Formats: sequence, C-alpha cells, structure tokens
Amino acid sequence: MYPKIKFQLDSKKDMRTFYCFISDARYDNGKILDWAIFQKYPFFKRYKSNNSIEIGKDKVKKFVLDIYAKKGRIMEKGLALYPKSWGKLEKEFYLLTDKLFKNNYWPKGKYIAYLTIWGMYPRFLEDKTFQIPYVHKNKKYVNAVIAHEMLHFKFYDYFLKNYPKYDKRKNDFLIWDASEIFNVIVQNTPIWLKEFKAATKAYPEHKKITKKLQRGYNKKGVFSAKELIEDILKELESGKNKNLIAIKREKQQ
Ligand SMILES: [Zn+2]
Repeated sequence: MYPKIKFQLDSKKDMRTFYCFISDARYDNGKILDWAIFQKYPFFKRYKSNNSIEIGKDKVKKFVLDIYAKKGRIMEKGLALYPKSWGKLEKEFYLLTDKLFKNNYWPKGKYIAYLTIWGMYPRFLEDKTFQIPYVHKNKKYVNAVIAHEMLHFKFYDYFLKNYPKYDKRKNDFLIWDASEIFNVIVQNTPIWLKEFKAATKAYPEHKKITKKLQRGYNKKGVFSAKELIEDILKELESGKNKNLIAIKREKQQ
C-alpha cells in the first residue's frame, strides 16, 4: 500500500541533523555547512574551524530551541498546511512513481516528515524519515521536497534489489550520485513539473551529467526507471566521470 506521510515537529531531530551536516562536511570541503547552516544562520560562522564547526552541544541546543520558540507559530502553520497541500498531490505522485518503476511497492518505514530550521533536507533511509523546510518563500516548493525524498526511498529500494553487483557499503557514493542525478532528471521533466511546480536543482558535481541526459528524457515523455538508471550508471562508470566518485572516496579515507 502507499505510505501515508505524517508531519511532525521535533527540535531534537534538528539537533541531531546539525551533527549529520558536520559529519558529511568531511567529504565535500565543508560545502554542505554553507548550504545547510551558515547561509541561514551566520551566527555559527564564528565557530567555523577548517571544514567543520566546533561548538558545545549546549550552545547548539539553545540556538535550536530559541528558533523553535521564536518561530513556533509559523511552524504550527506549516504543520497544518503541509499535510493538506501534499494530500492534494499524493495520488498523482504515487501514480507517477508506479509508472516509472513499473511496480507499486513501497518499503516499510515510518514515513515521517520533520519540519526543519536548516537549509538542507536530509533523509534517513533506515527508518524512512526526512526533513522539509518549516517555511519557504515558494509554498509549492515543499511538495517538491517531499516528492524528492520519497523518490530517494523508492530509488534505493529498487536499486539495491535490482543491481546487486553494486554492494551498498562499497558503492555508497556511487549510489548517492546516481540517486541524486535520477531525481533531478525525473523531477525536471515536464510531466513532473506540471504537478509539483518547482524545479529540482542539481548538485554542482552532477550538472554535467544531468545536462547531458535531461533533454533526451524530456523528449521521451514516458520512460522507465530502469532505462534512466542504466544511462546514469553508464555516465558514472565512464572514464570521464570516474573522478566524481574517486575524489569522494579519497576524502573518505
Ligand atoms: Zn536528494
């Protein structure tokens, strides 16, 4: 059956994701900290150290709780609005994903969308929870974020079942690259844009591949996840783009 997304507020989740960003920053020279934290909250810049943030847990907690107190009303509004607004689109979303993946299977999980104060919206594959902006200047944007995170859950389930040669632990970065590229191309086709009204931005390192594949897939109209995944893997495995994966692996060590 199709998952019914629940929407929740939980400041503890935001405290935890703060440290997820710091941990991920090890692989991307701290870019993620700019997007997720510094651009929105320059306060943290004074604690910047190399590509990380060195700050006491109590200060992070206080900061997060202050924002939750100050923005409580806006958060409550979002909490009331998002389920309604997603509710109008979810049927179409599941129809589109059924057609794309040629099945209507959804892995088991909590399917909770947590509102977040940060500028990036991580997803947690283990329990199928994710974060969405507590407020955004483009109201339609939140539905595109929800569709994006849900597509990740579906993609990972499909990919790991159908491409066993890519072991998750050994190919973590390749699968991440593939899933982000996949989402950008799918979500930016005219059919998806018509429903969700907001384009999905590619990560800078994925722009070359998405640009190359997007036009062809826009023209196709109807296509399967399988053909798109195979095209993406071809690109990622080709000599030219090998460095994309290799660079990250190096940083990991
Ligand atoms: Zn993503």
